[in-house]
Amino acid sequence: MPITGLHLLLTYKCNFACDHCFVYSSPHAKGVMRISDVRQILDEAEKLGNINWIFFEGGEPFLYYQTMLWGLREAKKRGFKIGIVTNSYWATSVEDAREWLLPISKIDADALSISDDAYHYGETEENFAKYAHEAAIELGIPVDTITIDDPKEYMKDIEWKGKPVVEGSVQFKGRAVEKLTEGLPRKSWAEFNKCLDEDFTNQSRVHIDPFGYVHFCQGITIGNMKKIPLHKLFEDYNPEKHPICAPLLKGGPTELVREYQVDHEEDYIDECHLCYSTRLKLRDKFPEILAPDEVYGIQE
Ligand code: SF4
Repeated sequence: MPITGLHLLLTYKCNFACDHCFVYSSPHAKGVMRISDVRQILDEAEKLGNINWIFFEGGEPFLYYQTMLWGLREAKKRGFKIGIVTNSYWATSVEDAREWLLPISKIDADALSISDDAYHYGETEENFAKYAHEAAIELGIPVDTITIDDPKEYMKDIEWKGKPVVEGSVQFKGRAVEKLTEGLPRKSWAEFNKCLDEDFTNQSRVHIDPFGYVHFCQGITIGNMKKIPLHKLFEDYNPEKHPICAPLLKGGPTELVREYQVDHEEDYIDECHLCYSTRLKLRDKFPEILAPDEVYGIQE
């Protein structure tokens, strides 16, 4: 498997609890990596030999700023490219943002992605993302913006002919399924016969969470690296034998429903909506694969 990027979910905690968040992050979410966890992942990344990128994400990684900085520094020292995804809650002015970003620019970060949309900053709120963006440019940090649009707007005129190709569209998994599905156009469950976003035979990146779970798609894991070393999880992975990836490969979320004869509604918004809703019903059967509880909105 040509995995070249490890995306560390440094924490599931976030100062926001956005409706579109597909890992159910919130101020109450549990799970934070320690420096020892980050070190273990970097050790494994070196052993794997083909990892180029280490990303720090969440949740909101700036909530654990010193741990994130340690990880960025250490990853860079070991020769990896480094990136961060943030909602920039910390950028209370351009001047303040500069102070937060200065240590990161000194480490020579290779990418900074900033969430900037109405879910994070409504039109009336002061937009911290803009301050962070400006400070990053001043400091020479490569920066881009992640903007998620309101599906009620971009889906309002569609007749279902396939997943709408919209830059910044919501992924209907996690909290988005609970909060954003009402009133949107749907089509028959039987038509969602292909996963459009993941290639389980040819994954290029994985997400690793604070509990050690290694995710292909959020909530679909190939195991836990606190129990089995990462390189061994990759070696042992066989897409044809994985109980969730195999049916998804064969016939998308529709096949996942058929394979396990899961009760379902007639219509869904898109592939992810059917996939996530089906997985929720299969969690008792595959507790170590469809994990952790946090991603499925079960936090207590
Ligand atoms: S269809 Fe399922 S596996 Fe594919 S991207 Fe959507 S949620 Fe992930």
